Amino acid sequence: MKASDFNYVCPSSVEEATSLLALHGDGAKVIAGGQSLVPALNLRLLAPEILIDIGRIGTLRYISVADGMVRIGALARHVDLLNSQEIAEHVPLLAEAITYVAHPAIRNRGTIGGNLAHADPASELPACMMALDAVMVISGPSGERRVAASEFFLGIYETALAPDELLIGLEIPVTAAGSRFYFHEFSRRNGDFAIAGLAAQANVRDGTVESLRLAYFAIGGRPTLAAHAAAKVARQPIGPAVIADAQSALAEDLEPHDDQQASSAMRLHLAKVLLERCMSDLVQDQEMKRK
Ligand code: FAD
Repeated sequence: MKASDFNYVCPSSVEEATSLLALHGDGAKVIAGGQSLVPALNLRLLAPEILIDIGRIGTLRYISVADGMVRIGALARHVDLLNSQEIAEHVPLLAEAITYVAHPAIRNRGTIGGNLAHADPASELPACMMALDAVMVISGPSGERRVAASEFFLGIYETALAPDELLIGLEIPVTAAGSRFYFHEFSRRNGDFAIAGLAAQANVRDGTVESLRLAYFAIGGRPTLAAHAAAKVARQPIGPAVIADAQSALAEDLEPHDDQQASSAMRLHLAKVLLERCMSDLVQDQEMKRK
């Protein structure tokens, strides 16, 4: 199928883009890398009157590190993250997760801003933002505002962005020296969207897990922090009983959905398996440190 007719504009600044969004309201749609939007247009799931192509706003394509913060512009492409020394060094969880996102052709065009604004519940990156306690930087007619990742993803393809707002970047605290990160996903083939996934970051001091952020994706309508399960692990010697307790607590944290890929019971089971893998990595890390 081909997309319905639409008008096209290519603003050269954030201010111009947000003014166009305010002018055209619901009839407008932002396009960045087009990797999610173009298929939706071609399937006629969406038929905007005008596409606002932000792809040439060069100031939105950057990765920088300063004052304990990694800042990434919305137009940084997946491939930029993959090749970035700063990301590998300062946000290793993201460096690992990006290798699971789609395939090289899609990673060459797809942007982090487009991925996060699209808010596919099966996507790896929104969950990473939750695990990393990232902040979304948003620009709109009344200026800039910042929203924590935990408040940004509201539901399936739904975020805290208003129709006249643009996601312009994100801020991620530099991963601290004592932090450990873990990433596991279950998908049918490499590069497919996950059927269940877990991005986790643990702060470990003197061999004890001080705090843990367990961000699940592809389980329910949005990425979810499993706070009850994490609380069972924090400040405990990690062994089979603690892991089993944490796995049981997942029922309180998650609302797994059914679809043609997996039942809700299967997804809860997979969530437990992923937690066990994450805990086993953590224990191995501790043993390596002791040697
Ligand atoms: P676009 O397609 O241009 O836009 C997506 C949506 O976000 C649109 O609604 C658009 O209006 C909005 N938008 C874009 N940028 C902004 C902005 N700055 N502010 C406000 N709104 C904005 N993703 C994964 O995470 N994991 C995968 O395994 C995966 N596999 C894929 C496999 C295939 C075959 C395909 C086609 C895609 C896959 N993707 C996957 C999606 C891919 O990562 C997309 O690149 C990404 O989701 C969207 O980025 P984009 O820049 O192309 O956004």
